[in-house]
Amino acid sequence: MVNLRELYRLDAVVNENKNIVIELLQHILATDKTICRCEHCILDIIAITLNDLPPRYRVGLIGTIDFDVDAETQYLEKVQDGLYHAIMRVTENPHHLITLNQKKY
Ligand SMILES: [Zn+2]
Repeated sequence: MVNLRELYRLDAVVNENKNIVIELLQHILATDKTICRCEHCILDIIAITLNDLPPRYRVGLIGTIDFDVDAETQYLEKVQDGLYHAIMRVTENPHHLITLNQKKY
């Protein structure tokens, strides 16, 4: 069997969404101090946001070929909306409570 991991730099295929979600979340956290910053909540917020977005893979070795400012602005707004939706979901039903409750037993 051909081992693609040995032959090719598969790490070069990246989902751009992840970096953008992290970047935008940092901005939101800087201004909204009410959001829980524990690892459970932050990772849940990122995972929920990424699951709700269509994947946006590109090959890192080549970089972005075309760049449409309007499309990019709309995309960033979509990511931001997704983030706020995820923050609301995690804030209403945080995972950290389950972990803390489990530790009591
Ligand atoms: Zn938390």
